[in-house]
Amino acid sequence: MAEFENPYATNDPFVEAHFDCLNCGGKLWEYAIQRQMVCEDCRSLFSTEEVFEAQSTETAEATA
Ligand SMILES: [Zn+2]
Repeated sequence: MAEFENPYATNDPFVEAHFDCLNCGGKLWEYAIQRQMVCEDCRSLFSTEEVFEAQSTETAEATA
């Protein structure tokens, strides 16, 4: 599988990621240290690979 270079994971420990929680559909935040994402609602942890596989066709929208 292609590796994903996260352009945001340089400084901030948490970066808002434009992905939805696979459990509850809440907003996922990327936890750059572990390359994981955490849901702000149910606090589930997902690996970035897991999320990308599930939502690989979703393109991040610009933040309003
Ligand atoms: Zn959730």
